[in-house]
Amino acid sequence: MQTTMSLAEVLLYLDLIKRKGKTPSKDELNMIVYHMDNYDQVKAFYNKIKEHKFEPPFGFYLSTLIHFIEDYEEYISLKNKILRTQRNRKRPFNKLFTNQILLCKSEEEALSILQEARDYGLNLDEKLWVAKFDSLEEIKKKQKEWKEEMKSSEAYNNFSSIGEKFEIMKSSYFKSLSQEHLKKIIVEPKSQDKGVVARQINTFTRSMYIKEYAKRVAQGICQLCDKEAPFLDKQGNPFLEVHHINYLSNGGEDKIDNVVALCPNCHRRIHMLEDEEDFKKILKKTSLI
Ligand SMILES: [Zn+2]
Ligand SMILES: [Zn+2]
Repeated sequence: MQTTMSLAEVLLYLDLIKRKGKTPSKDELNMIVYHMDNYDQVKAFYNKIKEHKFEPPFGFYLSTLIHFIEDYEEYISLKNKILRTQRNRKRPFNKLFTNQILLCKSEEEALSILQEARDYGLNLDEKLWVAKFDSLEEIKKKQKEWKEEMKSSEAYNNFSSIGEKFEIMKSSYFKSLSQEHLKKIIVEPKSQDKGVVARQINTFTRSMYIKEYAKRVAQGICQLCDKEAPFLDKQGNPFLEVHHINYLSNGGEDKIDNVVALCPNCHRRIHMLEDEEDFKKILKKTSLI
């Protein structure tokens, strides 16, 4: 995601809003979607919205999601869902059909989609759309245009305000959990513990909890050089970076016994030198867990 927030952070942000008994505003939802890069991210985002029963306005759901889909079958299933939920509305959006035309494979199919749109009383410009059905390339171009359009919107440019709000919420939320409690959430994600977002933890947000746990164990001290974190972040927490001992890219697991918290210097050092002694030292620190 080309933003100050990763997908995991966005999802945790939604968890924290839910935890406060609030609902994200339409502007916030827009801002988040505008900053996403692909359909998988948008899908994870929508699943989270569904999980928390946040209800984004119908038009929002439609107009954003269809901009990310590249798979035709997936598009059809979304379209059917939209048509079902829209039964009480007068007529579906033009875009529902025009985007399908962009994704479809043949002129024949494009024409039948146009006909379907007409049956709904929509008046689509045949020339415009039939000429353009060049499947994936064309929709990618359209998606790019759409993203460019978004970049000039106010919502897009206000995104950093969500990031700041998130950092504050995250810091106070994590502070409210004891180390033991944190561990319980990570290790027993199915816990029914009341007052905890444990049941909502998923593979994405889990990584945030694991990072927090590693920092908690380190208590502000770099686990390689044993010196204090070089500075405090805006929320007053010691700044340390979380490192996976066995790299995730090498198949290492995102687990509490595979992470340490390091000062930025040592984190660089570990990756640059890949020194055996360093490795042994940080490995020993995980025995604290
Ligand atoms: Zn260090
Ligand atoms: Zn690292």
